[in-house]
Amino acid sequence: MAGVWVFAENYDYCLELLQIGRSLADKTGVQLTAFACGDKGIGQQYIYYGADQVFILPPLAEDQPLGTYVPAIVEAARQEDPDIILCAATLRGKEIAARVAAGLNTGLCSECIALAINSDNKLEMKRVIYGGAAMQTLTCKTRPQMATIPPHTFTPVTELDDTRSGIIKEIGPISSTPVKVLAKKPRAKESGDITRSRVLVCVGRGVEKEGDLKLAGDLAETLGGDLACTRPIAEELHWMPQETYIGLSGQKVKPELYIGLGISGQIQHTTGIRDARVICSINKDEDAPIFKISDYGIVGDLYEVVPFLSQELARLKKK
Ligand SMILES: Cc1cc2nc3c(=O)[nH]c(=O)nc-3n(C[C@H](O)[C@H](O)[C@H](O)COP(=O)(O)OP(=O)(O)OC[C@H]3O[C@@H](n4cnc5c(N)ncnc54)[C@H](O)[C@@H]3O)c2cc1C
Repeated sequence: MAGVWVFAENYDYCLELLQIGRSLADKTGVQLTAFACGDKGIGQQYIYYGADQVFILPPLAEDQPLGTYVPAIVEAARQEDPDIILCAATLRGKEIAARVAAGLNTGLCSECIALAINSDNKLEMKRVIYGGAAMQTLTCKTRPQMATIPPHTFTPVTELDDTRSGIIKEIGPISSTPVKVLAKKPRAKESGDITRSRVLVCVGRGVEKEGDLKLAGDLAETLGGDLACTRPIAEELHWMPQETYIGLSGQKVKPELYIGLGISGQIQHTTGIRDARVICSINKDEDAPIFKISDYGIVGDLYEVVPFLSQELARLKKK
């Protein structure tokens, strides 16, 4: 076996893949290989963080998309025959994984949230299906066994061991691709990254008008957290930016504390908060489904409960 390979275009996400990749490689007694995109310096870092081998992909020209790396990755895999390839499920990572899998004529399991080696020494891949209603476990009949892993699924490796040594190989040159980047424009971001928030106050359709978001904003500020929302608030009412809605088609979050205000708790939303440590909900309907998955629930009118909560929390903070 030529081991476990990990690919992420982003340094932090690669450290997350090195964490799970290391444990799979140790379990099967094989080597762990990481790809570094265009930066030799990062290669040594990845070795300190647990890789045994790093492939340095050449830097891309301005007009070359990340997908330009696909033929080089496929060629390396044909030569070295890895057993497992894991890719970060970023927008571009997903595209690369699919194209590499097609190039190698193998299967790909997307958006895996747990990985293990089973008794047949095969990769067991778990992912959420039916909008969070069920968990699917898959193995792959072909090699390499490939999976994409959503960012923040695994904690990154934090222990740097600068006594570790490994092999650094430059691969390429990369061939040209018919796809050219014509222009790059930063996306207008109106908010921070809620996937990294420790506290989230999330608003739903129970909030009657846009101006009332201030109530939730005040609570978030008192708690040192950020504001998030359900899909209708962002996509139908356009009161909040797209990147702040949580759920199946929105962001998956992992805060220490999630407070839902006027949210019914449909599965398409709660799928995105399954990893929250503590879920607290305020809803005037005692039968709202959100209460079934809440650690704390307050049955009440958010227009009464939220100002009271903010006031009390501010008072406690001053003490
Ligand atoms: C394919 C698909 C994908 C989807 N993806 C997502 C997704 O990623 N994220 C997402 O969020 N949704 C998603 N949805 C939509 C989802 O099904 C729900 O419609 C949505 O989550 C409901 O949002 P809500 O809870 O804000 O609104 P509602 O379901 O309308 O609930 C409002 C709640 O507020 C309560 N309320 C009203 N007034 C007050 C008050 N004064 N005080 C306290 N409580 C009050 C009500 O009792 C009610 O429970 C998706 C739907 C589909 C079909």
